Amino acid sequence: MISGKGGTGKTSVVASFAALAENKVLVDCDVDAADLHLLLSPEVVESHEFMASRQATVDVSRCTGCGHCSEVCRFGAIAMAYGHPTIDPISCEGCTVCSHICPEGAITMVDVMSGHWYVSHTRFGPMVHAKLKAAEENSGKLVSQVRRKAREIAESQGHELIITDGPPGVGCPVISSISGVDLALIVTEPTVAGVHDMERVLDLTCHFGVESAVCINKCDLDEANAERIEDYCCARGIEIAGKIPFDEEMVRAVVRGEPPVLYGDGAPDCAGPDSVAGEAAQAIRQLWDRVAVLLARDAGSF
Ligand code: SF4
Ligand code: SF4
Repeated sequence: MISGKGGTGKTSVVASFAALAENKVLVDCDVDAADLHLLLSPEVVESHEFMASRQATVDVSRCTGCGHCSEVCRFGAIAMAYGHPTIDPISCEGCTVCSHICPEGAITMVDVMSGHWYVSHTRFGPMVHAKLKAAEENSGKLVSQVRRKAREIAESQGHELIITDGPPGVGCPVISSISGVDLALIVTEPTVAGVHDMERVLDLTCHFGVESAVCINKCDLDEANAERIEDYCCARGIEIAGKIPFDEEMVRAVVRGEPPVLYGDGAPDCAGPDSVAGEAAQAIRQLWDRVAVLLARDAGSF
């Protein structure tokens, strides 16, 4: 599940699918701003450090203070003070140039922890998720790591489905999230930005040959833009797999930390099955039914 931008309601739909689908592993690939855990309340059973960055470090006992390293660092990370270099860990990009240029072999590269990834238990099944530290890069590598672990769990425990909450946008982590999937479900909303970002992410999935379908969330907020999305998808041969009406109860479900599709099933303060909440929950169920058909058609029955 991906979206061209954040805030389309993608994670609410993923959490609802988590409640509806059987025999699956859940993955949160939005490692820069993970939030699926807020709706699924995972209990962490494994925690692993993610080491993807390297930083330069100086052995002052070998340094002669020649200053070559400071001259070649294009990131301004090395300052000479009192005849010796000091490396700013925030500015160091780990390019390794200084370690190669140092005539005394006084600079070495060390691994740096960039974040954590976790295997958790949820009431809906196993979940793999991660958290990248602030200002860290390599989110694409971390996405690959959590996806690899999810596949390992699926294979070892006999789960036939992996549901992935992908990152927003069209960058490296999104590409890492969609490689090799059976279906990319793009969740969009009927706003000018939503239409534009959906077009960009569809370009991406088509470029990589990933079968795609679209879900319009809050479809009744702007009928003209919703129609634009439908026309655009129709012209490109992309299926609109579902349309979810705007629903304040969906927001309340998220605030309560519940998958919205469950919130209409008798939760306190719910307006009942005839309310808009009921319609939205029903729309998500219909969406899941259609996605299951698309997956079964392409990948064999699960
Ligand atoms: S290049 Fe090597 S020897 Fe020269 S200042 Fe830097 S660390 Fe010291
Ligand atoms: S590794 Fe690259 S960025 Fe870091 S201090 Fe050395 S030259 Fe600068």
